[in-house]
Amino acid sequence: MTTTGIAAAARPPAVEVHGVHKWFGGRRVLDGVSLTVAPGTVTVILGRSGSGKSTLLRVLNHLEKPEAGHVSIGGEPIGVRRQGNRLRELRESAILAQRSRIGFVFQNFNLFPHLTLLDNVAAAPVATGRLSRQQAQTLARELLTRVGLGDRTGAYPRQLSGGQQQRVAIARALALRPGVILFDEPTSALDPELVGEVLSVIRDLATGGTTLVIVTHEIGFAREVADEIVFLHEGRIVEQGPPARVLDRPEHPRTREFLSRVL
Ligand code: ADP
Ligand code: MG
Repeated sequence: MTTTGIAAAARPPAVEVHGVHKWFGGRRVLDGVSLTVAPGTVTVILGRSGSGKSTLLRVLNHLEKPEAGHVSIGGEPIGVRRQGNRLRELRESAILAQRSRIGFVFQNFNLFPHLTLLDNVAAAPVATGRLSRQQAQTLARELLTRVGLGDRTGAYPRQLSGGQQQRVAIARALALRPGVILFDEPTSALDPELVGEVLSVIRDLATGGTTLVIVTHEIGFAREVADEIVFLHEGRIVEQGPPARVLDRPEHPRTREFLSRVL
């Protein structure tokens, strides 16, 4: 075991999903998903459209409540607390507090259109009472510089390209110093020439040791950054492992079929 391995083993998993089932109406969208993400690692989730990838991410931060199973982030159960040997549902305010410790980057950026880039990034640490306005603005300037937008802090989202907006969204996710950042197809809405700048920022986070869970169709990028690839089909994980195995020697027919289409 490597030194990092020992360090990781001493900490609780960054993400732990156990036996999660999710139905929408009569339709089962997640069918017994279990997954462990070690701290400081990158997990890439692949699967065709409708396989449940977004739902899985949304279950991780309790935007969707699973009908069965449970999720822990950094060792803390999400959406519930233990009372004796029973699990009780958390109040909405407690769920919001938990959610604020999980970064989420959406396909469509979801920036606040009426706020400057600086305020987009500074808003959440102030709203959650973690930082004063001045501290949050200092942090926002640092983070915007880190994503290459230190000279645009006073601009508004509409004045930026999609790639720049997505980089702001990543800075905004970092502002809450989350234990894990979830990305749902972060480059799917971008013109092809803007994809690289966003992947480059995500790559920097990956090499810097931030725990990441990424849904993407960028297979080359997945191969490069992922420690673990998870292949989801009809709400089940049908194959999982390091990129060299899952991408180059897929065992499951569904994984093979998917890869033969996208590669
Ligand atoms: P993916 O991200 O892999 O494309 P999703 O998790 O978005 O898949 O969706 C999985 C399935 O669940 C799809 O059939 C989708 O139509 C359905 N679904 C997702 N969200 C909802 C919802 N809020 N209500 C009803 N059905 C939903
Ligand atoms: Mg999706």
